[in-house]
Amino acid sequence: MFFGTLGTLLRQGWARCNLAAMNATLTSRRRFLKAATLATAGAPWINRFASAAQADDPNRKLGFALCGLGGLSGGQIAPALSKTKNCRLAGIVTGHPDKAEKWKAQFNIPDKNIYNYENMEKMSDNPDIDVVYVVTPNALHAELTIKAAKAGKHVLCEKPMEVSVEKCQQMIDACKAANRLLAIGYRSRFDPATQECIQLAQQKVFGASKMIEAGFGFHIGDPNQWRLKRDLAGGGALMDVGIYALQATRYLSGEEPNIVTALETKTDPVKFKEVDESVTWQLKFPSDIIANCSTTYAFGGINSYTVFAERGAFGLNPAYGYEGNRGFRTDGRRIEYPPMDQFAAEMDDFAQCILKNKPSIVSGEEGLRDIRIITAIYESIRTGKAITLA
Ligand code: NAD
Repeated sequence: MFFGTLGTLLRQGWARCNLAAMNATLTSRRRFLKAATLATAGAPWINRFASAAQADDPNRKLGFALCGLGGLSGGQIAPALSKTKNCRLAGIVTGHPDKAEKWKAQFNIPDKNIYNYENMEKMSDNPDIDVVYVVTPNALHAELTIKAAKAGKHVLCEKPMEVSVEKCQQMIDACKAANRLLAIGYRSRFDPATQECIQLAQQKVFGASKMIEAGFGFHIGDPNQWRLKRDLAGGGALMDVGIYALQATRYLSGEEPNIVTALETKTDPVKFKEVDESVTWQLKFPSDIIANCSTTYAFGGINSYTVFAERGAFGLNPAYGYEGNRGFRTDGRRIEYPPMDQFAAEMDDFAQCILKNKPSIVSGEEGLRDIRIITAIYESIRTGKAITLA
């Protein structure tokens, strides 16, 4: 199972859930009354009680509904919710009644906050839910994001944002039309080790960056899982974990690439009949920084980045784990931080964006940029040519 494999890779653990924090329904009456007076201004067709989130109480806990109750929701996101300051597990969306019963009992979720993929629009009547966190296979992200936005909910959607540029754009448009915020689950942006590297690059501590090496891969197990099916995953290793290395080159360079070249290899054409197994790609940025990146589903051990600058270098290894990311700087200082929960930080950041009415650093537009580049990488593999990005 993927969850077990990558779970080990990422050193994830099943944290004990703090039921009290997750079950903070006591504020619902106050929030309902507030929502009743502050109807959703930008989308008058939305039920006026659609969302209680308003930009006036930065300490309020927003109600999150997890949509898709698989490995990530159960293993990481639900436990992380209990560690947040401004979020609580208020509801669930699932296609499995048996899972609904299990989660209902474990997290004390009221029946009125339990939905399936077909009746999500009914959330528009439910002020207890402010945010839908979409955690399903990639190719379902747009459909569920659009349903949630139409129900008046803000949306946090897992990476990769979707499987095509067009579907990403539809998600952005739907959230804009509903006057709701959209963010992508790029948890690494909230990791302090990553943030130190971004600062080192931005402040040119070792001079201007010249070259970036980045890669992330793992050995994928179960040959029948959705990650190996094109219609649900949209792609293979590149779409799933290569995207972390791609993101890293963009946040470390602070630029958008203008040229892409790529190569692919398949050592197991049966298992990887529908999706990519191993990919390497190169990016050229406007300031002439070049990046060399790799991803694979065939083996583990790739989980790092290095930035080579004029007077030194720095980087992380591991770079994309749920915890324990650490690294080096050529001035001899270590990049190392106490354990923290990236998912909790990501959700609290999104809650603050909603409460303070400000855009997320991991916006839908940011998710779309990665999918546009991934599309160009696949095009380069297909055509054997360098692809110029506008
Ligand atoms: P998973 O297979 O463990 O869970 C997927 C869930 O979606 C299951 O509950 C399943 O029942 C549900 N589902 C709904 N419709 C389905 C369908 N047609 N086929 C299969 N499942 C369906 O997957 P996961 O590991 O939880 O991944 C979910 C999303 O989270 C993916 O987009 C993935 O890329 C992302 N993810 C992100 C991270 C991260 O670190 N940010 C880590 C793992 C996964």
